Amino acid sequence: MNYFDTHAHYNDEKFEGIVDDVLRRCKEIGVKYIINIGYNIESSIKAIELSNRYKNIYVAIGIHPSDVEKCSVEELEEVYRKYNNGKIVAIGEIGLDYSYTKENKNEQIELFKNQIKLANKLKLPICVHSRDASLDTYTTLKECPAKYGTLMHCFSPTEDLVRLVLENGYMVAFGGNITYKRAASFSRYMNMIPVNQIVIETDSPYLPPVPLRGTLNTSENLPIILDKLSEYKNISKDELSQIVYRNSLEFFNIKEE
Ligand SMILES: [Zn+2]
Repeated sequence: MNYFDTHAHYNDEKFEGIVDDVLRRCKEIGVKYIINIGYNIESSIKAIELSNRYKNIYVAIGIHPSDVEKCSVEELEEVYRKYNNGKIVAIGEIGLDYSYTKENKNEQIELFKNQIKLANKLKLPICVHSRDASLDTYTTLKECPAKYGTLMHCFSPTEDLVRLVLENGYMVAFGGNITYKRAASFSRYMNMIPVNQIVIETDSPYLPPVPLRGTLNTSENLPIILDKLSEYKNISKDELSQIVYRNSLEFFNIKEE
């Protein structure tokens, strides 16, 4: 089976010194492509550097809402101009996160919009992080749509979010979150999301799937996520793996070699 991890952070310090080993093992189990995702200026540059060393690693550069005070969209654009190696395939992860504070919510929304505009200018899709902020995410994406594709990362379906996704043809990425207990409530929405709008991800090193909670998450865990998704969607693993793999290549506009 071929796997495509649409969201991982091999630029995270937890992978320092072991990244070569981890990526070799991922390759052995059939992980063909990984999108290494930036979350501020430094990690975006690091993500690009890693993609210079590994053929199968592509990159999203972006400023996570929690870094709203530290980074600007001008700096991000400069990263693109300076380091673009032809493997920057998205702007992400960007979005809104009110789980720690809502106090800077206007700044978060403005940064989110500016990064969407940058994506439109560079003709790139976006990878969206939304936590405890679904209504404002909805409004922002409506006011300032991304023209080259929108992927909702670590998707937790609710009625409103599923409607948003269906109305606008967004892609959604499921990760370890679908193996958690609270995901039981997802089942009623799963049938509503067509498979051609679904991809998978790990969010490594975070969010390891059950039964590996508490361990370092890597793209080696994609088969566990695919298994769970195939149960939810009632589609064979073989068929589903091909569908989500193709969806991923298409979304990020990557030509398979
Ligand atoms: Zn992430």
